[in-house]
Amino acid sequence: MIAVEEAQARILKSLAKRTLSTEVIPIADGLYRVLGEPIHADLDVPPFDNSAMDGYAVRSDILSSPTPEHPIRLQIVGTSAAGHPLPAMGITPFQCYRIMTGAPIPEDADAVVQSEWTMADPTDNDVILVTRPVSKGLNIRRKGSDIPNGAPILRAGSRITPAITGILATLGKNLVSVYREPRIAIISTGDELIDVDQTPLPGQIRNSNAYALYAAVRSAGGSPILLPHTRDDLAAIIETLDQAAQYDVILTSGGVSVGDFDFVKQALDAHGTQDFWRVNMKPGKPMTFGHYRGTPLFGLPGNPVSALVTFELFVRPFIRQWQGDTEWARLVVPLPLLDDFDEISDRRHYVRCQIKNQEGVVGVTANPDQGSAIQTSWLSASGLMVIRENHGPSKKGTLVPVMLIS
Ligand code: AMP
Ligand code: MG
Repeated sequence: MIAVEEAQARILKSLAKRTLSTEVIPIADGLYRVLGEPIHADLDVPPFDNSAMDGYAVRSDILSSPTPEHPIRLQIVGTSAAGHPLPAMGITPFQCYRIMTGAPIPEDADAVVQSEWTMADPTDNDVILVTRPVSKGLNIRRKGSDIPNGAPILRAGSRITPAITGILATLGKNLVSVYREPRIAIISTGDELIDVDQTPLPGQIRNSNAYALYAAVRSAGGSPILLPHTRDDLAAIIETLDQAAQYDVILTSGGVSVGDFDFVKQALDAHGTQDFWRVNMKPGKPMTFGHYRGTPLFGLPGNPVSALVTFELFVRPFIRQWQGDTEWARLVVPLPLLDDFDEISDRRHYVRCQIKNQEGVVGVTANPDQGSAIQTSWLSASGLMVIRENHGPSKKGTLVPVMLIS
């Protein structure tokens, strides 16, 4: 049995010899893909000085001291609207332009006073009264202040979020290079399994792992392929694994414990190599990693909670890192326990937990039943509390590390 860190290190080390090709896709399809190229700006953003407010473009040098009682009168000489060219004429000190958000700043103006700081002149439509002092640069968004031309903006390995999609669009990258999504074959094993649309007969259960893992692969950025579930029979498992070996990664669920019908390990011994079996963790101890006919194989335990916890700790990092994602690691934050946590285990314990604000104290509380078959232990969980091996009972208020996963 090896430690979690050792298992993670071995899995990620096996990636050293593997590279993933890139493909070019339209940015609209890029959400959560990983950039395969660095992105540099080839223009200034914004491309011209423009107004951050609806108001009046003014010269600030004569506006250092107006008040509502003693406003300063300015003559309106025109309008600058978004999407229209810069007005041809500049302004003299007591002139101004009416200006809209996003419109270019006219020549000689060096500030925009927002409408709320002005009053209309009841006798003259072409005059406004400025009621507050205006400093130079007020409400002007300078050319290049967001992104200067030539700046390196995104590294290869950045995960494309909605915000990054917006930046790519601003920079005119309608096509981007992204890493291919690894194709991940999912096989569940067990004589007791039936598909979701069937009604269980005595002794049967629905195959939930196949679908949970399908969703987990998608959320980790892989491309899942569901293979038919396999009976507890060595020849049947080998037949399905042979089919699965054409994909980039094989995930199996079940059949890796020490029961009489646990054949995944035997199949791996027959046609592959087993890097390790059993990790010092709870849930998920029987987790196995190896290569079946050269294809990386994760043998996940059959218990539904164990399958997802081992996916989170071992498979997700593998998928993310393979795609060159530089920010794949989950954030681990120390949070105070909101209740005593008394369970002690000689294995590392990953406890489904909720982060709550309890009367102004933000802390963490374990979900009630932590059994490895209790799927409802995930409900409302925002992370996994990480309780060290042989760690004694912890009192309310103790800081515990929490891995954020939602
Ligand atoms: P195993 O790892 O095959 O010994 O299975 C451990 C437990 O997980 C048993 O109670 C199985 O019935 C259950 N199990 C195995 N595979 C699945 C699956 N695909 N979906 C739901 N439960 C499963
Ligand atoms: Mg089984």
